[in-house]
Amino acid sequence: KCDANYVPLSPVNFLLRAAGVYSGRTSIIYKRVQFTWDQTYVRCRRLSSALLSLGIQKNDVVSVLAPNTPAIYEMHFGVPMAGGVLNTINTRLDAGNIATILKHSGAKIFFVDYEYVPLAKEALKILINNTNSSSALPLVIVIDDLDTPTGIRLGELEYECLLAGADPNIELKELKDEWDPIALNYTSGTTSAPKGVVYSHRGAYLSTMSLLLQWEVGSEPVYLWALPMFHCNGWTFTWGMAARGGANVCIRSPTTTEIYKAISDHKVTHFCCAPVVFNILLEGSYNRRLPHKVNVLTGGAPPPATVLQSMQQLGFHVTHAYGMTEATGPALVCEWRQEWDQLSPDVQSKLKARQGISVLTLAGADVVDKKTMKSVPRDGASLGEIVLRGSSIMKGYFKNVKDTKEAFKDGWFFTGDVGVVHPDGYIEIKDRSKDVIISGGENISSVEVESVVYRHPAVAEVAVVAMPHSLWGETPCAFVVLKKAVRDKNIKEDEILRHCKMNMAGFMVPKKVVFMEELPKNGNGKVVKAQLREMARRIKIP
Ligand code: ADP
Repeated sequence: KCDANYVPLSPVNFLLRAAGVYSGRTSIIYKRVQFTWDQTYVRCRRLSSALLSLGIQKNDVVSVLAPNTPAIYEMHFGVPMAGGVLNTINTRLDAGNIATILKHSGAKIFFVDYEYVPLAKEALKILINNTNSSSALPLVIVIDDLDTPTGIRLGELEYECLLAGADPNIELKELKDEWDPIALNYTSGTTSAPKGVVYSHRGAYLSTMSLLLQWEVGSEPVYLWALPMFHCNGWTFTWGMAARGGANVCIRSPTTTEIYKAISDHKVTHFCCAPVVFNILLEGSYNRRLPHKVNVLTGGAPPPATVLQSMQQLGFHVTHAYGMTEATGPALVCEWRQEWDQLSPDVQSKLKARQGISVLTLAGADVVDKKTMKSVPRDGASLGEIVLRGSSIMKGYFKNVKDTKEAFKDGWFFTGDVGVVHPDGYIEIKDRSKDVIISGGENISSVEVESVVYRHPAVAEVAVVAMPHSLWGETPCAFVVLKKAVRDKNIKEDEILRHCKMNMAGFMVPKKVVFMEELPKNGNGKVVKAQLREMARRIKIP
Protein backbone atom coordinates (compact mmCIF):
# COMPACT_ATOMS: atom_id res chain seq x y z
CA LYS A 1 0.00 0.00 0.00
CA CYS A 2 1.53 3.33 -1.03
CA ASP A 3 0.45 6.82 -2.05
CA ALA A 4 0.14 5.79 -5.68
CA ASN A 5 -2.06 2.75 -5.22
CA TYR A 6 -3.94 3.59 -2.07
CA VAL A 7 -6.37 6.43 -2.60
CA PRO A 8 -9.35 6.31 -0.24
CA LEU A 9 -12.58 5.62 -2.11
CA SER A 10 -14.68 8.74 -2.31
CA PRO A 11 -17.29 9.96 -4.83
CA VAL A 12 -15.57 13.37 -4.67
CA ASN A 13 -12.93 11.79 -6.94
CA PHE A 14 -15.57 11.53 -9.69
CA LEU A 15 -15.73 15.33 -9.82
CA LEU A 16 -11.95 15.76 -9.85
CA ARG A 17 -11.85 13.45 -12.88
CA ALA A 18 -14.90 15.04 -14.56
CA ALA A 19 -13.28 18.49 -14.40
CA GLY A 20 -10.60 17.21 -16.77
CA VAL A 21 -12.17 14.54 -18.95
CA TYR A 22 -15.58 16.20 -19.41
CA SER A 23 -14.27 19.76 -19.46
CA GLY A 24 -16.45 21.97 -21.67
CA ARG A 25 -19.31 19.46 -21.65
CA THR A 26 -22.63 20.24 -19.99
CA SER A 27 -22.90 19.42 -16.30
CA ILE A 28 -26.02 21.32 -15.20
CA ILE A 29 -29.10 22.77 -16.87
CA TYR A 30 -31.43 24.87 -14.70
CA LYS A 31 -34.00 27.10 -16.40
CA ARG A 32 -31.84 29.34 -18.69
CA VAL A 33 -28.61 28.67 -16.77
CA GLN A 34 -26.09 26.08 -17.95
CA PHE A 35 -22.73 24.99 -16.56
CA THR A 36 -19.98 22.73 -17.84
CA TRP A 37 -18.02 20.21 -15.77
CA ASP A 38 -14.97 22.46 -15.42
CA GLN A 39 -17.26 25.27 -14.20
CA THR A 40 -19.04 22.95 -11.76
CA TYR A 41 -15.66 21.88 -10.42
CA VAL A 42 -14.61 25.49 -9.80
CA ARG A 43 -17.96 26.30 -8.15
CA CYS A 44 -17.60 23.28 -5.83
CA ARG A 45 -14.04 24.33 -4.93
CA ARG A 46 -15.30 27.85 -4.18
CA LEU A 47 -18.01 26.38 -1.97
CA SER A 48 -15.56 24.25 -0.01
CA SER A 49 -13.21 27.18 0.46
CA ALA A 50 -16.12 29.38 1.65
CA LEU A 51 -17.16 26.68 4.15
CA LEU A 52 -13.61 26.45 5.49
CA SER A 53 -13.41 30.20 5.96
CA LEU A 54 -16.75 30.08 7.80
CA GLY A 55 -15.09 27.69 10.25
CA ILE A 56 -16.36 24.29 9.09
CA GLN A 57 -14.20 21.54 10.57
CA LYS A 58 -13.88 17.84 9.88
CA ASN A 59 -17.15 15.95 10.38
CA ASP A 60 -19.21 19.11 10.98
CA VAL A 61 -22.74 18.78 9.65
CA VAL A 62 -23.94 21.14 6.91
CA SER A 63 -27.72 20.99 6.35
CA VAL A 64 -29.62 22.07 3.28
CA LEU A 65 -33.33 22.59 2.66
CA ALA A 66 -33.78 22.95 -1.10
CA PRO A 67 -35.47 21.46 -4.14
CA ASN A 68 -33.39 20.14 -7.06
CA THR A 69 -31.22 23.14 -7.90
CA PRO A 70 -27.56 23.57 -8.92
CA ALA A 71 -26.73 24.65 -5.33
CA ILE A 72 -27.84 21.41 -3.65
CA TYR A 73 -26.08 19.44 -6.40
CA GLU A 74 -22.81 21.35 -5.79
CA MET A 75 -23.08 20.70 -2.05
CA HIS A 76 -22.68 16.96 -2.72
CA PHE A 77 -19.05 17.75 -3.57
CA GLY A 78 -18.29 21.11 -1.94
CA VAL A 79 -19.30 20.01 1.57
CA PRO A 80 -17.20 16.78 1.72
CA MET A 81 -14.30 18.61 0.00
CA ALA A 82 -14.23 20.84 3.09
CA GLY A 83 -14.36 17.77 5.36
CA GLY A 84 -18.02 18.34 6.25
CA VAL A 85 -20.97 15.96 6.29
CA LEU A 86 -23.93 16.82 4.04
CA ASN A 87 -27.41 16.62 5.56
CA THR A 88 -30.11 17.10 2.93
CA ILE A 89 -33.50 17.77 4.51
CA ASN A 90 -36.80 16.70 2.98
CA THR A 91 -38.61 19.87 1.88
CA ARG A 92 -41.99 18.28 2.58
CA LEU A 93 -41.35 17.95 6.32
CA ASP A 94 -43.06 20.31 8.74
CA ALA A 95 -41.19 22.91 10.78
CA GLY A 96 -41.21 20.73 13.93
CA ASN A 97 -39.48 17.83 12.18
CA ILE A 98 -36.94 20.15 10.55
CA ALA A 99 -36.13 21.66 13.96
CA THR A 100 -35.67 18.15 15.39
CA ILE A 101 -33.24 17.26 12.58
CA LEU A 102 -31.25 20.50 12.97
CA LYS A 103 -30.98 19.88 16.70
CA HIS A 104 -30.16 16.18 16.49
CA SER A 105 -27.58 16.63 13.72
CA GLY A 106 -25.99 19.63 15.44
CA ALA A 107 -25.82 21.38 12.04
CA LYS A 108 -23.24 24.20 11.94
CA ILE A 109 -24.51 25.71 8.69
CA PHE A 110 -28.05 25.66 7.30
CA PHE A 111 -28.53 26.46 3.59
CA VAL A 112 -32.11 27.42 2.74
CA ASP A 113 -33.60 27.82 -0.74
CA TYR A 114 -35.53 31.11 -1.04
CA GLU A 115 -38.86 29.31 -1.52
CA TYR A 116 -38.45 27.58 1.86
CA VAL A 117 -37.54 30.67 3.89
CA PRO A 118 -40.93 30.81 5.71
CA LEU A 119 -40.66 27.11 6.64
CA ALA A 120 -37.04 27.52 7.77
CA LYS A 121 -37.96 30.60 9.86
CA GLU A 122 -40.63 28.58 11.63
CA ALA A 123 -38.21 25.69 12.21
CA LEU A 124 -35.53 28.03 13.62
CA LYS A 125 -38.09 29.57 15.97
CA ILE A 126 -38.94 26.11 17.32
CA LEU A 127 -35.23 25.30 17.59
CA ILE A 128 -34.59 28.43 19.70
CA ASN A 129 -37.51 27.59 21.99
CA ASN A 130 -36.27 23.99 22.39
CA THR A 131 -32.66 24.87 23.09
CA ASN A 132 -33.22 28.08 25.05
CA SER A 133 -30.07 29.48 23.51
CA SER A 134 -29.24 31.07 20.21
CA SER A 135 -25.61 29.87 20.36
CA ALA A 136 -26.77 26.40 19.29
CA LEU A 137 -28.30 27.83 16.12
CA PRO A 138 -26.66 27.07 12.77
CA LEU A 139 -25.41 29.87 10.54
CA VAL A 140 -28.16 30.41 7.96
CA ILE A 141 -27.30 31.02 4.29
CA VAL A 142 -30.08 31.63 1.81
CA ILE A 143 -29.93 30.31 -1.77
CA ASP A 144 -31.56 32.77 -4.14
CA ASP A 145 -32.80 31.72 -7.59
CA LEU A 146 -29.88 31.44 -9.99
CA ASP A 147 -31.97 32.28 -13.06
CA THR A 148 -34.26 35.01 -11.69
CA PRO A 149 -33.03 36.32 -8.30
CA THR A 150 -35.90 37.16 -5.94
CA GLY A 151 -34.05 39.18 -3.31
CA ILE A 152 -35.61 37.03 -0.57
CA ARG A 153 -33.18 36.76 2.36
CA LEU A 154 -32.90 35.08 5.73
CA GLY A 155 -29.93 36.54 7.54
CA GLU A 156 -26.97 38.26 5.91
CA LEU A 157 -25.45 35.65 3.63
CA GLU A 158 -26.44 34.47 0.18
CA TYR A 159 -25.06 31.45 -1.68
CA GLU A 160 -23.99 33.08 -4.98
CA CYS A 161 -22.31 36.00 -3.16
CA LEU A 162 -20.53 33.49 -0.95
CA LEU A 163 -19.18 31.62 -4.00
CA ALA A 164 -18.20 34.85 -5.73
CA GLY A 165 -16.08 35.90 -2.75
CA ALA A 166 -14.36 32.54 -2.27
CA ASP A 167 -10.97 31.35 -3.48
CA PRO A 168 -11.25 28.43 -5.95
CA ASN A 169 -7.57 27.54 -5.55
CA ILE A 170 -7.45 26.89 -1.83
CA GLU A 171 -5.78 23.58 -1.00
CA LEU A 172 -8.22 20.64 -0.80
CA LYS A 173 -8.73 18.82 2.51
CA GLU A 174 -7.15 15.44 1.98
CA LEU A 175 -9.35 12.46 2.82
CA LYS A 176 -7.30 9.99 4.85
CA ASP A 177 -9.91 7.42 5.77
CA GLU A 178 -12.59 6.23 3.36
CA TRP A 179 -14.76 5.26 6.33
CA ASP A 180 -15.15 8.92 7.26
CA PRO A 181 -18.74 10.14 7.05
CA ILE A 182 -19.89 11.94 3.90
CA ALA A 183 -23.66 12.26 4.37
CA LEU A 184 -26.35 12.14 7.03
CA ASN A 185 -29.85 11.29 5.82
CA TYR A 186 -32.90 10.99 8.03
CA THR A 187 -35.40 8.18 7.35
CA SER A 188 -38.92 9.25 6.46
CA GLY A 189 -40.25 7.70 9.67
CA THR A 190 -43.04 5.67 8.09
CA THR A 191 -43.03 3.17 10.95
CA SER A 192 -41.04 4.90 13.70
CA ALA A 193 -39.43 8.27 14.57
CA PRO A 194 -36.93 9.49 11.91
CA LYS A 195 -33.41 8.20 12.44
CA GLY A 196 -30.18 9.77 11.14
CA VAL A 197 -28.43 7.39 8.75
CA VAL A 198 -24.68 7.91 8.27
CA TYR A 199 -22.98 7.09 4.94
CA SER A 200 -19.22 6.74 4.56
CA HIS A 201 -17.20 7.98 1.56
CA ARG A 202 -16.44 4.35 0.79
CA GLY A 203 -20.09 3.18 0.92
CA ALA A 204 -21.22 6.13 -1.21
CA TYR A 205 -18.48 5.50 -3.81
CA LEU A 206 -19.23 1.78 -4.12
CA SER A 207 -23.00 2.27 -4.23
CA THR A 208 -22.63 4.87 -6.98
CA MET A 209 -20.48 2.54 -9.07
CA SER A 210 -22.75 -0.44 -8.64
CA LEU A 211 -25.96 1.42 -9.51
CA LEU A 212 -24.43 2.93 -12.64
CA LEU A 213 -23.40 -0.53 -13.75
CA GLN A 214 -26.65 -2.25 -12.94
CA TRP A 215 -28.82 0.39 -14.56
CA GLU A 216 -26.40 0.28 -17.50
CA VAL A 217 -25.82 4.05 -17.51
CA GLY A 218 -23.42 4.79 -20.37
CA SER A 219 -21.30 7.91 -20.74
CA GLU A 220 -22.86 11.38 -20.97
CA PRO A 221 -26.47 10.55 -20.12
CA VAL A 222 -29.02 13.36 -19.84
CA TYR A 223 -30.37 12.87 -16.35
CA LEU A 224 -33.59 14.54 -15.22
CA TRP A 225 -33.87 15.31 -11.51
CA ALA A 226 -37.44 14.12 -10.92
CA LEU A 227 -36.33 12.30 -7.74
CA PRO A 228 -35.48 14.77 -4.98
CA MET A 229 -31.76 14.89 -4.24
CA PHE A 230 -32.72 14.78 -0.57
CA HIS A 231 -33.74 11.12 -0.99
CA CYS A 232 -30.56 9.17 -0.19
CA ASN A 233 -28.54 11.77 -2.16
CA GLY A 234 -30.71 11.09 -5.18
CA TRP A 235 -30.07 7.33 -4.85
CA THR A 236 -26.37 8.25 -5.42
CA PHE A 237 -26.93 9.62 -8.94
CA THR A 238 -25.77 13.05 -7.72
CA TRP A 239 -22.27 11.58 -7.54
CA GLY A 240 -23.06 9.19 -10.40
CA MET A 241 -23.57 11.96 -12.95
CA ALA A 242 -20.06 13.27 -12.25
CA ALA A 243 -18.74 9.74 -12.80
CA ARG A 244 -20.43 9.46 -16.22
CA GLY A 245 -20.17 13.12 -17.28
CA GLY A 246 -23.95 13.36 -17.40
CA ALA A 247 -25.97 16.53 -17.85
CA ASN A 248 -28.05 17.19 -14.71
CA VAL A 249 -31.39 18.68 -15.72
CA CYS A 250 -32.62 20.36 -12.53
CA ILE A 251 -36.32 21.12 -12.06
CA ARG A 252 -37.82 22.57 -8.90
CA SER A 253 -40.81 20.24 -8.87
CA PRO A 254 -41.61 17.17 -10.93
CA THR A 255 -44.99 18.10 -12.40
CA THR A 256 -46.31 16.29 -15.48
CA THR A 257 -45.71 19.36 -17.65
CA GLU A 258 -42.16 19.90 -16.39
CA ILE A 259 -41.21 16.24 -16.89
CA TYR A 260 -42.60 15.95 -20.44
CA LYS A 261 -41.15 19.37 -21.34
CA ALA A 262 -37.68 18.41 -20.07
CA ILE A 263 -37.85 15.11 -21.96
CA SER A 264 -38.50 16.86 -25.27
CA ASP A 265 -36.41 20.04 -24.72
CA HIS A 266 -33.27 18.31 -23.43
CA LYS A 267 -33.65 14.75 -24.79
CA VAL A 268 -33.61 13.25 -21.30
CA THR A 269 -32.31 9.67 -21.31
CA HIS A 270 -32.71 8.75 -17.63
CA PHE A 271 -34.64 9.64 -14.52
CA CYS A 272 -35.58 8.09 -11.19
CA CYS A 273 -38.83 8.51 -9.31
CA ALA A 274 -41.18 6.91 -6.80
CA PRO A 275 -44.07 4.93 -8.34
CA VAL A 276 -46.47 7.67 -7.26
CA VAL A 277 -45.02 9.92 -10.01
CA PHE A 278 -46.23 7.35 -12.56
CA ASN A 279 -49.82 8.19 -11.65
CA ILE A 280 -49.37 11.85 -12.62
CA LEU A 281 -47.43 10.93 -15.76
CA LEU A 282 -50.14 8.52 -16.87
CA GLU A 283 -53.00 10.91 -16.09
CA GLY A 284 -51.27 13.76 -17.95
CA SER A 285 -49.90 11.74 -20.86
CA TYR A 286 -52.97 11.98 -23.11
CA ASN A 287 -51.57 8.70 -24.48
CA ARG A 288 -48.81 10.54 -26.32
CA ARG A 289 -45.78 8.42 -27.22
CA LEU A 290 -42.35 9.54 -26.16
CA PRO A 291 -40.09 11.08 -28.80
CA HIS A 292 -37.25 8.72 -27.77
CA LYS A 293 -36.46 5.97 -25.26
CA VAL A 294 -36.41 7.16 -21.64
CA ASN A 295 -35.01 4.90 -18.92
CA VAL A 296 -36.77 5.15 -15.58
CA LEU A 297 -35.63 3.63 -12.30
CA THR A 298 -38.45 3.40 -9.77
CA GLY A 299 -38.65 2.34 -6.12
CA GLY A 300 -39.42 3.46 -2.60
CA ALA A 301 -42.84 1.80 -2.61
CA PRO A 302 -44.29 -1.18 -4.51
CA PRO A 303 -45.23 -0.23 -8.09
CA PRO A 304 -48.42 -2.04 -9.19
CA ALA A 305 -47.85 -4.36 -12.20
CA THR A 306 -50.66 -2.67 -14.13
CA VAL A 307 -49.02 0.75 -13.74
CA LEU A 308 -45.65 -0.65 -14.89
CA GLN A 309 -47.33 -2.04 -17.97
CA SER A 310 -49.01 1.29 -18.83
CA MET A 311 -45.67 3.11 -18.46
CA GLN A 312 -44.00 0.64 -20.84
CA GLN A 313 -46.81 1.17 -23.34
CA LEU A 314 -46.08 4.92 -23.36
CA GLY A 315 -42.46 4.15 -24.24
CA PHE A 316 -40.77 4.43 -20.83
CA HIS A 317 -38.23 1.69 -20.18
CA VAL A 318 -38.88 1.01 -16.51
CA THR A 319 -36.54 -0.78 -14.08
CA HIS A 320 -37.81 -1.56 -10.61
CA ALA A 321 -35.61 -1.35 -7.52
CA TYR A 322 -36.17 -1.77 -3.81
CA GLY A 323 -34.24 -0.03 -1.11
CA MET A 324 -34.12 2.16 1.89
CA THR A 325 -32.18 5.02 3.42
CA GLU A 326 -30.04 2.55 5.39
CA ALA A 327 -28.87 0.83 2.17
CA THR A 328 -27.85 4.08 0.40
CA GLY A 329 -30.95 3.74 -1.80
CA PRO A 330 -31.49 0.67 -4.01
CA ALA A 331 -30.50 -2.69 -2.46
CA LEU A 332 -32.33 -5.00 -4.88
CA VAL A 333 -32.84 -4.43 -8.59
CA CYS A 334 -35.28 -6.36 -10.75
CA GLU A 335 -32.74 -7.10 -13.49
CA TRP A 336 -34.23 -8.09 -16.81
CA ARG A 337 -33.63 -11.69 -17.95
CA GLN A 338 -33.41 -12.36 -21.66
CA GLU A 339 -35.86 -15.27 -21.53
CA TRP A 340 -38.56 -12.82 -20.37
CA ASP A 341 -38.51 -11.20 -23.83
CA GLN A 342 -40.79 -13.96 -25.16
CA LEU A 343 -43.49 -13.50 -22.49
CA SER A 344 -46.72 -11.54 -22.76
CA PRO A 345 -46.67 -7.91 -21.49
CA ASP A 346 -48.98 -8.97 -18.69
CA VAL A 347 -46.58 -11.62 -17.36
CA GLN A 348 -43.58 -9.35 -17.97
CA SER A 349 -45.00 -6.59 -15.80
CA LYS A 350 -45.81 -9.07 -13.01
CA LEU A 351 -42.20 -10.30 -13.06
CA LYS A 352 -40.99 -6.70 -13.06
CA ALA A 353 -43.15 -5.79 -10.07
CA ARG A 354 -40.98 -8.14 -7.98
CA GLN A 355 -38.21 -6.38 -6.08
CA GLY A 356 -35.36 -8.42 -7.59
CA ILE A 357 -31.82 -9.49 -6.86
CA SER A 358 -29.08 -7.86 -4.79
CA VAL A 359 -27.10 -4.89 -6.09
CA LEU A 360 -23.38 -5.47 -6.74
CA THR A 361 -22.23 -3.81 -3.52
CA LEU A 362 -24.09 -6.34 -1.41
CA ALA A 363 -22.31 -9.51 -0.40
CA GLY A 364 -25.70 -10.96 0.33
CA ALA A 365 -29.46 -10.45 0.36
CA ASP A 366 -31.60 -13.16 1.86
CA VAL A 367 -35.04 -13.86 3.27
CA VAL A 368 -34.79 -15.61 6.62
CA ASP A 369 -36.84 -17.01 9.43
CA LYS A 370 -35.99 -14.44 12.11
CA LYS A 371 -35.94 -17.00 14.95
CA THR A 372 -33.70 -19.63 13.37
CA MET A 373 -31.84 -17.32 10.90
CA LYS A 374 -32.35 -20.07 8.26
CA SER A 375 -33.10 -19.04 4.67
CA VAL A 376 -36.70 -19.68 3.64
CA PRO A 377 -37.19 -22.13 0.74
CA ARG A 378 -37.14 -20.62 -2.79
CA ASP A 379 -40.81 -21.40 -3.37
CA GLY A 380 -42.32 -17.94 -3.83
CA ALA A 381 -44.58 -18.61 -0.83
CA SER A 382 -42.62 -19.02 2.43
CA LEU A 383 -42.45 -15.70 4.23
CA GLY A 384 -39.41 -14.35 6.06
CA GLU A 385 -37.61 -11.09 6.83
CA ILE A 386 -35.41 -9.54 4.15
CA VAL A 387 -31.83 -9.16 5.42
CA LEU A 388 -28.85 -7.52 3.72
CA ARG A 389 -25.08 -7.30 4.14
CA GLY A 390 -22.44 -5.46 2.17
CA SER A 391 -20.63 -2.22 1.47
CA SER A 392 -23.69 -0.10 0.72
CA ILE A 393 -25.21 -0.61 4.14
CA MET A 394 -24.96 2.49 6.38
CA LYS A 395 -22.27 2.97 9.02
CA GLY A 396 -25.04 3.19 11.61
CA TYR A 397 -27.63 5.54 13.08
CA PHE A 398 -26.20 8.87 14.24
CA LYS A 399 -26.00 9.17 18.04
CA ASN A 400 -28.27 6.13 18.39
CA VAL A 401 -26.46 3.00 19.55
CA LYS A 402 -29.64 1.21 20.63
CA ASP A 403 -31.36 1.25 17.21
CA THR A 404 -28.05 0.52 15.42
CA LYS A 405 -27.56 -2.60 17.56
CA GLU A 406 -31.10 -3.70 16.91
CA ALA A 407 -30.78 -3.26 13.14
CA PHE A 408 -27.50 -5.22 12.86
CA LYS A 409 -27.62 -8.80 14.13
CA ASP A 410 -25.66 -11.95 13.25
CA GLY A 411 -23.76 -10.04 10.56
CA TRP A 412 -26.90 -8.89 8.76
CA PHE A 413 -28.90 -5.70 8.49
CA PHE A 414 -32.58 -6.37 9.21
CA THR A 415 -34.85 -4.42 6.88
CA GLY A 416 -38.14 -4.91 8.71
CA ASP A 417 -39.68 -6.00 5.38
CA VAL A 418 -41.34 -9.35 4.85
CA GLY A 419 -40.78 -11.17 1.57
CA VAL A 420 -40.49 -14.44 -0.34
CA VAL A 421 -37.85 -15.84 -2.68
CA HIS A 422 -38.96 -17.21 -6.05
CA PRO A 423 -37.34 -20.31 -7.60
CA ASP A 424 -35.31 -18.00 -9.92
CA GLY A 425 -33.78 -16.27 -6.86
CA TYR A 426 -35.77 -13.03 -7.24
CA ILE A 427 -37.06 -11.60 -3.97
CA GLU A 428 -40.57 -10.23 -3.74
CA ILE A 429 -41.73 -7.99 -0.91
CA LYS A 430 -44.96 -9.02 0.67
CA ASP A 431 -45.16 -6.35 3.33
CA ARG A 432 -43.50 -4.35 6.01
CA SER A 433 -43.51 -6.54 9.11
CA LYS A 434 -45.69 -3.94 10.86
CA ASP A 435 -48.23 -3.93 8.00
CA VAL A 436 -48.84 -7.69 7.68
CA ILE A 437 -52.47 -8.55 8.45
CA ILE A 438 -52.93 -11.66 10.56
CA SER A 439 -56.41 -13.04 9.97
CA GLY A 440 -57.45 -16.27 11.71
CA GLY A 441 -53.77 -17.22 11.97
CA GLU A 442 -53.13 -16.64 8.26
CA ASN A 443 -50.67 -13.95 7.14
CA ILE A 444 -52.19 -11.65 4.55
CA SER A 445 -49.87 -9.41 2.56
CA SER A 446 -51.43 -5.96 2.27
CA VAL A 447 -49.30 -5.38 -0.87
CA GLU A 448 -50.84 -8.45 -2.53
CA VAL A 449 -54.40 -7.34 -1.79
CA GLU A 450 -53.54 -3.84 -3.02
CA SER A 451 -52.17 -5.19 -6.30
CA VAL A 452 -55.50 -6.90 -7.01
CA VAL A 453 -57.61 -3.85 -6.07
CA TYR A 454 -55.37 -1.74 -8.36
CA ARG A 455 -56.43 -3.88 -11.31
CA HIS A 456 -59.98 -2.49 -11.07
CA PRO A 457 -60.10 0.12 -13.84
CA ALA A 458 -61.70 2.81 -11.63
CA VAL A 459 -59.00 2.70 -8.94
CA ALA A 460 -56.28 5.38 -8.88
CA GLU A 461 -54.74 4.56 -5.48
CA VAL A 462 -55.32 2.02 -2.73
CA ALA A 463 -53.91 1.17 0.68
CA VAL A 464 -54.93 -1.92 2.65
CA VAL A 465 -54.53 -2.17 6.44
CA ALA A 466 -55.65 -4.43 9.30
CA MET A 467 -59.04 -3.79 10.85
CA PRO A 468 -59.98 -5.49 14.16
CA HIS A 469 -62.47 -8.35 13.75
CA SER A 470 -64.24 -10.25 16.54
CA LEU A 471 -63.89 -13.65 14.86
CA TRP A 472 -60.70 -13.43 12.82
CA GLY A 473 -58.72 -11.07 15.05
CA GLU A 474 -57.79 -8.91 12.06
CA THR A 475 -59.19 -8.56 8.58
CA PRO A 476 -58.20 -6.37 5.59
CA CYS A 477 -59.78 -2.94 5.10
CA ALA A 478 -59.17 -1.14 1.79
CA PHE A 479 -58.91 2.66 1.48
CA VAL A 480 -59.51 3.59 -2.16
CA VAL A 481 -59.04 6.78 -4.20
CA LEU A 482 -61.00 6.65 -7.46
CA LYS A 483 -59.66 7.98 -10.77
CA LYS A 484 -60.78 11.56 -11.44
CA ALA A 485 -62.60 10.54 -14.62
CA VAL A 486 -64.97 8.17 -12.79
CA ARG A 487 -65.63 10.13 -9.60
CA ASP A 488 -69.17 11.05 -10.69
CA LYS A 489 -70.03 7.49 -11.82
CA ASN A 490 -71.27 6.44 -8.39
CA ILE A 491 -68.97 3.46 -7.95
CA LYS A 492 -70.00 1.48 -4.87
CA GLU A 493 -68.17 -0.65 -2.33
CA ASP A 494 -69.95 -3.76 -3.69
CA GLU A 495 -68.36 -3.37 -7.09
CA ILE A 496 -64.82 -3.26 -5.66
CA LEU A 497 -65.57 -6.21 -3.39
CA ARG A 498 -67.00 -8.24 -6.30
CA HIS A 499 -63.76 -7.60 -8.21
CA CYS A 500 -61.75 -8.75 -5.15
CA LYS A 501 -63.81 -11.92 -4.70
CA MET A 502 -63.25 -12.86 -8.34
CA ASN A 503 -59.49 -12.33 -8.13
CA MET A 504 -58.23 -13.43 -4.70
CA ALA A 505 -58.65 -16.11 -2.03
CA GLY A 506 -61.73 -15.54 0.16
CA PHE A 507 -59.82 -14.90 3.40
CA MET A 508 -57.87 -12.08 1.74
CA VAL A 509 -60.92 -10.16 0.52
CA PRO A 510 -61.31 -6.86 2.43
CA LYS A 511 -64.34 -6.74 4.71
CA LYS A 512 -64.65 -3.01 4.13
CA VAL A 513 -63.86 -0.50 1.38
CA VAL A 514 -63.57 3.17 2.35
CA PHE A 515 -63.49 5.76 -0.45
CA MET A 516 -61.26 8.81 0.11
CA GLU A 517 -60.37 11.96 -1.79
CA GLU A 518 -56.68 11.26 -1.11
CA LEU A 519 -54.60 8.94 1.06
CA PRO A 520 -52.66 10.37 4.03
CA LYS A 521 -48.99 10.60 3.01
CA ASN A 522 -45.79 11.50 4.83
CA GLY A 523 -43.00 13.82 3.69
CA ASN A 524 -41.68 11.19 1.28
CA GLY A 525 -45.07 10.74 -0.33
CA LYS A 526 -45.52 7.36 1.35
CA VAL A 527 -48.92 6.32 2.66
CA VAL A 528 -49.09 6.59 6.46
CA LYS A 529 -50.67 3.24 7.21
CA ALA A 530 -50.64 3.88 10.98
CA GLN A 531 -53.20 6.66 10.42
CA LEU A 532 -55.38 4.41 8.26
CA ARG A 533 -55.17 1.61 10.86
CA GLU A 534 -56.42 4.12 13.43
CA MET A 535 -59.37 4.98 11.14
CA ALA A 536 -60.05 1.30 10.48
CA ARG A 537 -60.12 0.62 14.22
CA ARG A 538 -63.11 2.95 14.54
CA ILE A 539 -65.11 1.27 11.75
CA LYS A 540 -67.91 -1.03 12.85
CA ILE A 541 -68.29 -4.16 10.73
CA PRO A 542 -71.89 -5.28 10.32
P1 ADP B 1 -38.94 4.75 5.90
O1 ADP B 1 -38.49 3.39 6.34
O2 ADP B 1 -38.99 5.73 7.01
O3 ADP B 1 -40.17 4.75 4.99
P2 ADP B 1 -37.32 4.82 3.56
O4 ADP B 1 -37.68 5.96 2.69
O5 ADP B 1 -35.90 4.44 3.66
O6 ADP B 1 -37.77 5.22 4.98
O7 ADP B 1 -38.20 3.58 3.09
C1 ADP B 1 -37.74 2.27 2.96
C2 ADP B 1 -38.89 1.31 2.85
O8 ADP B 1 -39.70 1.56 1.70
C3 ADP B 1 -38.46 -0.14 2.70
O9 ADP B 1 -38.09 -0.71 3.93
C4 ADP B 1 -39.71 -0.77 2.09
O10 ADP B 1 -40.67 -1.07 3.08
C5 ADP B 1 -40.27 0.34 1.22
N1 ADP B 1 -39.86 0.13 -0.19
C6 ADP B 1 -38.83 0.69 -0.83
N2 ADP B 1 -38.76 0.28 -2.11
C7 ADP B 1 -39.78 -0.57 -2.30
C8 ADP B 1 -40.24 -1.34 -3.41
N3 ADP B 1 -39.66 -1.29 -4.59
N4 ADP B 1 -41.32 -2.13 -3.21
C9 ADP B 1 -41.92 -2.20 -2.00
N5 ADP B 1 -41.55 -1.48 -0.92
C10 ADP B 1 -40.49 -0.68 -1.06
